[in-house]
Amino acid sequence: MNAENADHPAVTVIGLGSMGSALAATLLDRGHPTTVWNRSADRARPLADRGARVAATPEEAIAAGELIVACVLDYPALYSVLDPAAGSLAGKTLVNLTSGSPEQAAEATEWARSHGADYLDGAIMTTPPGVGSPEMMFLYSGARTVFDTHRPTLAALGDPVHLGTEPGLASLYDAALLGLMWSAFTGWLHGTALVGAEQAAATEFTPVAIRWLTAVTGFMTTYAAQVDAGSYPGDDATVNVQIAAIDHLLHAADARGLDNALPALLKSTMERARAAGHGSDSYASVIEVLRKP
Ligand code: NAP
Repeated sequence: MNAENADHPAVTVIGLGSMGSALAATLLDRGHPTTVWNRSADRARPLADRGARVAATPEEAIAAGELIVACVLDYPALYSVLDPAAGSLAGKTLVNLTSGSPEQAAEATEWARSHGADYLDGAIMTTPPGVGSPEMMFLYSGARTVFDTHRPTLAALGDPVHLGTEPGLASLYDAALLGLMWSAFTGWLHGTALVGAEQAAATEFTPVAIRWLTAVTGFMTTYAAQVDAGSYPGDDATVNVQIAAIDHLLHAADARGLDNALPALLKSTMERARAAGHGSDSYASVIEVLRKP
C-alpha cells in the first residue's frame, strides 16, 4: 500500500458493490491509501489483493481517514451501516454517493452535522467501467469549502462538478438526467425497431442516430434560452408542424407492427400544448404543460 502524502490523502470506501468496488479500485490505482468495508466481507478480497486495507468494522473504516466515501444500495442501507458507527464521524467528511432523493440528501446533511461531520452529496453519472475517466461527471452538492478541500481526491473518480450548496441538488440533477437518458434510450430503441423492420441493423442505424443527436443538442441550447425567457418564438418549427410530423412516425411504426406507446404519449403532450395556445410556438413551449399549475 502507498504511504499517505499530501497529494494522495487516505480515503475510506464503505460499500463494495459494483460501484463501490470500482471507486475503491480507482482510488488505489491513483495512489490513495484506501481502507474498505462492506457488509459481506468477501467482496473486499479483490481490493485487498490490490493493496486496500480491509477494516473489520465501519468504526475502524471511518477512523482510517478523513474522507469517507459511502456507496451502498439506498439510504436505509446507509443508515444501517453508519448509525451504529456515528460516534466516530466527528471531524470527518462524508461523501455520500448512494442514490436517493433530494429530501434524503437534506436529511443526511443534518444527520452528519449532528454527528460533527461535514457532508457532500454526490451522484455518479456513469457505470462502474467509467469510474476514473475525466470524461465522466460526478455531481456534488453541499458546502463549497468542503468540496474545494477534497476536490483533488474526488477528481480521481471522474470530473467533479459542484452544483451548489443546496444539499439536494446532486440528487435532483441525477433524477433529471436519468429521465433524459431513459427517454433518449427508448426513443432510440423505437427508431432502431422501426428501421430494423426493414432489415437495417442497429449498428447501421446508431451512427446516424448519434449524428442526429448532435443537431438535437443544438436545438436544446436554443430552446433553453426560450424556456428561461418564457417566450417561445415558433421561427424554426412550430408545435403544429411537429404534430403533423409525428403522425408519419405513428403511421410507419404502426404499419410495421411496433408498439407506439411512446410516440402516442409525445403526440398527446404536443396536443395539450396546442390546446393551451402554443400551436404556433416552438417545441420549447411544451414545458408549459409539463409544469403542474
Ligand atoms: P450493488 O452492486 O447491488 O451493491 C450494493 C451495495 O449496498 C453492496 O455493498 C451491499 O452490500 C450494500 N448493501 C445493500 N443493502 C445493505 C444493507 N441493508 N446494509 C448494508 N449494506 C447494504 O449496487 P451498486 O451498483 O454498487 O450501486 C450502489 C449505489 O450506487 C446505488 O445507490 C446506485 O444507485 C448507485 N449507482 C450505481 C451505478 C451503477 O452503474 N452501478 C451508477 C450510478 C449510481 P452486500 O455486498 O453486503 O450486499
